[in-house]
Amino acid sequence: MEYIKYYLSEYSGIETDDESTVKNPSICGHCHNTGKQTIIFPFQTTGKFDDNSGIMLTFCELCESTTIHYLKKDDISNEYISEKSIPSTIASNRTSQFVNENFSPFVEIYNQAKSAEQYGLNQISGMGYRKAIEFLVSDYLLVFKLKELAWVSNPKTSLNKKIAAIQNNQIKTLAKAISWIGNDETHYTKQNPEYGIDNMKLFINGLLSCIDLENQVRKATEMINQQN
Ligand SMILES: [Zn+2]
Repeated sequence: MEYIKYYLSEYSGIETDDESTVKNPSICGHCHNTGKQTIIFPFQTTGKFDDNSGIMLTFCELCESTTIHYLKKDDISNEYISEKSIPSTIASNRTSQFVNENFSPFVEIYNQAKSAEQYGLNQISGMGYRKAIEFLVSDYLLVFKLKELAWVSNPKTSLNKKIAAIQNNQIKTLAKAISWIGNDETHYTKQNPEYGIDNMKLFINGLLSCIDLENQVRKATEMINQQN
C-alpha cells in the first residue's frame, strides 16, 4: 500500500498521510507495458495554482523509464488516482480509430514488437514488425474487399502474393519495402544492410496514414455517389 505525502510548512518536512492511499497506475506511459509500476514519489498538491490533487512519478521495470502522473483524489475512497500522464498511458492514440477497430491483431503484434525493441531486444523486434505487417496486409485485403477470406487465410498464399494483390500503388510500395526489411531482420544474410528497424517503423507509419486516407476517400466517394 502506498500513501500520499505532503509538505508541512510548520516542520519544514515531508510527511505521510496514513489515511490517503495512491492507486498504482499499472501501465507505463512509454512502452505501455501493463503491470505494477514502481511508485517513486506520490505528492499531494494543494496550492492555489495546482490544477490537480497530486503529482506522482512512476518507474517502469521493463523499459526503466519514468512517467509523470497528475493525480485526482477520490473523496469517497480517499484514494489518489492517475488522471492524466506524461507521456500518455493511452496506447491507442498512436493509431487511428479506424485502424484500431479493423486491424486489432496488427495493433497488438505491433505494440509487442515495440515493447521488445524498447526492452533492447533488437534482434527479435524486427521479426515482430514483419509479422505485424503480414497481419496488416491480410486484413487490408479483406477490409477493402480486394480478396476473399479463403484466399487470404490459405497458408499457401505468401505475403508477396498478398502485396501484389494491393491496387493502391503507395500502399503496395510501402508494404513491399517493409517486407523486404522484415525479411532481412529474419534471415541470416541481409539483402539491404543499410536499412533497419527505424526505416521499417517510418514506412509502417506511412502505410497507416495511406490506409486512413484511403478509408476517408472511400467514405467521401460513397457520399458523392449517393447524390447522383
Ligand atoms: Zn515501460
